[in-house]
This record gives sequence, structure tokens and C-alpha cells, in this order.
Amino acid sequence: MDIKPETPWDSTPDISARIVTAIGRIATVLRSGMWEVSTGEGLNPAQAEILQLLQHRTRGVRLTWLARQLSISAASASDSVAALVSKGLIRKARAEDDGRATALHLTPEGEQVVQRLAHALSFADSAASRLAPAQQVQMLTGLFKLIAELQKTDRFPELRACLSCRHFEPNKYPAQEVPHHCALVNAPLPISFLRIDCAEHEPTDPVSQRRNWEAFA
Ligand code: SF4
Repeated sequence: MDIKPETPWDSTPDISARIVTAIGRIATVLRSGMWEVSTGEGLNPAQAEILQLLQHRTRGVRLTWLARQLSISAASASDSVAALVSKGLIRKARAEDDGRATALHLTPEGEQVVQRLAHALSFADSAASRLAPAQQVQMLTGLFKLIAELQKTDRFPELRACLSCRHFEPNKYPAQEVPHHCALVNAPLPISFLRIDCAEHEPTDPVSQRRNWEAFA
């Protein structure tokens, strides 16, 4: 029988497993940073996240969309929204595209709370900004690729990212250093400028979305 000799590293988990562990640990630290600040605002983490999701959404959002983004049930999202409405941080209005539906918007007070919450993760932002610029681009690219892989499993909620935007023109300049283009600003779009949450984002059709994410993965 062919017996392989043991090495001191045999029990080391695969790199993929360690990537997932590292992301999980970072997520825990970020959640705890957000928890500290949101508690100071009298909010639980889900309520804080809802306020952040509503920022820069001038047309408002539906309850079902919020539930999908938070990966929680519509009933739980509804409880959190009711609490935020009673605190005066969210208001309900008729949806622009369907008069029978309700859209949720931030109130001016909610907007102020979101701006204060934005500082909750500045410690992590500072840590990331201390990485060498080339390493930051490499890491951003790797994270986009990981999100692209997760998109294939339908486990990732909808993002206002370039890769799902109708203004995104992938590989408009093949073989160039900056191959992609944003039609909204009519300019080449370097990887280092790809957005994860762009206020000007307009969803493209599902086929183009899938093609963009798969091309990037
Ligand atoms: S920058 Fe904004 S508008 Fe341009 S492609 Fe990306 S998401 Fe779309």
C-alpha cells in the first residue's frame, strides 16, 4: 500500500476554508462595531441595517425587498419597520410605480442617524486603507469574484453593483488595461472604481446580469 508520510501541515484547512473563516471573523468584528453605535442610537442591528439600506433610495423600497436583503422573513422585517416608523426614522408613502403598494423612505431624522452610523465602521475602513493600493485593488477584485461565484448559487441578495447595472458595458475596450465602460458617465471604468452600491444604478435584465457576473467570476 502506498502510505504518504505525514507533514506538520496535514491538518491545515484548505485555503478556501480559511478564506471563509477569515471573512466570518471580519463580519463578526464589523457587526460588533455596528452594534456598539446602533445601541447608542437605541436601535437593534436589524433596524440599523434597514436605515442604511434606505439611504440614497429616492424612490423608496418595498418591505419584501428589505426582507430579501436582510435574509429575514417578511414578518420580522415588518416588525423592525414598524419600530422605525414609530421612532420617526422611516415614513411610508405610495410607491411611484404602483399606487396600491407602499414604499419605505428615510425621514430627515432617519437620514441623520444613518450619517452617524456611517462612522461605526471607520476603524475597519482605516485598516483597509493602510494596505498598499495595489493590494486593495487585488482584494476588491477577489471579493467581486467571490460575490460573482455566490451569485451563481442565488444566495446573494440583489446589489446596486456595476455588474448588475444597465449602464455597465463589459469589455467595451477588449485587451485594454481598462476594458469596461460606464455609459452613464460615458467613461472607461477601471476595476478599482467598480461600485458595490451605486446610487445611480439601474438594474439590467437578468440575462445580462448573469452574463456580467459569470464573465467576472
Ligand atoms: S458606476 Fe453606477 S451607473 Fe455606472 S455602471 Fe456602475 S453602477 Fe452603473
